[in-house]
Amino acid sequence: MNKASPIPLSIEFFPPKTPEGVDKLRAVRQQLYALKPEFCSVTFGAGGSTQEGTFSTVRDILGEGVDAASHLSCIGATRVTLRQHLGILKAMGVKRLVALRGDLPSGYGAGGEFQYASDLVAFIRTETGDDFHIEVAAYPEVHPQAKSPAADLQAFAAKVKAGANSAITQYFYNADAYFRFVEEVDALGLTLPVVPGIMPITSSTQLMRFSDACGAEIPRWIRLRLQSLGDDTVSIRAFGLDVVTGLCEQLRAGGAPGLHFYAMNQSVATLEICRRLDLF
Ligand code: FAD
Repeated sequence: MNKASPIPLSIEFFPPKTPEGVDKLRAVRQQLYALKPEFCSVTFGAGGSTQEGTFSTVRDILGEGVDAASHLSCIGATRVTLRQHLGILKAMGVKRLVALRGDLPSGYGAGGEFQYASDLVAFIRTETGDDFHIEVAAYPEVHPQAKSPAADLQAFAAKVKAGANSAITQYFYNADAYFRFVEEVDALGLTLPVVPGIMPITSSTQLMRFSDACGAEIPRWIRLRLQSLGDDTVSIRAFGLDVVTGLCEQLRAGGAPGLHFYAMNQSVATLEICRRLDLF
């Protein structure tokens, strides 16, 4: 909890690929712990490609006295491998999972025994009862492969009915999309917290690349301003801090139940946004 308002924070990392990256992330985490996050989560490469790095980063976070959530994706997985993963995570003392379908890199056949995240949530509940708090992904701007917004909302509801406790959204820069999604979730009688995912803006090219891949929309006014700043990284960062702090203010004022930061294994932007929000 923090001093300005009791809005819980969580922070997402990805598993580093090198020993230097592991050391760097350890230092980044120590800086971010000033925010007293409710938990930190660690992504999991589809097909289990980062399994070792994910689990060892989760273990490190738990060892630092902070609650850690492991992401777990099911695309390409079998019941046997997922059962093993759940056993490892339980033995490590993990209490929270982010259950996802995942995206296999192009060229991989889907394979595996699971098609959707709702199948994974149901499997986790069958295998482990209420041992884990399960988070799922939500898409206020609609998942790029969804047949329609209504079908995507039904897919979200299926994850909740299968046993999800709370949700984290894909990042967005349009607060109205989030508020509308939350209204729709409420209207279905689903009572879980839907926590907005916040992506700090620190690099124009990186943001465009990610957003194209995951279907997050960069509003025209942001895109054009970023383009006009070229490679002036100082101005891009200053603009990004203004935009994302403003978004967080809107979300907090509108009753968002928390903020989940996609920190991208960096501390500076997340800390500065939270400082401006008077959160620490
Ligand atoms: P699902 O909920 O299964 O949805 C996928 C698509 O299928 C949607 O279009 C949905 O509408 C559709 N669908 C679902 N059920 C049905 C059904 N019964 N019939 C027809 N259509 C259906 N990826 C990783 O690889 N590793 C990570 O660690 C990771 N972490 C993430 C964390 C968050 C907070 C978010 C928002 C995303 C994350 N992702 C991660 C990305 C995620 O894996 C992709 O967005 C993926 O494309 C969808 O995953 P999902 O769990 O939302 O899938």
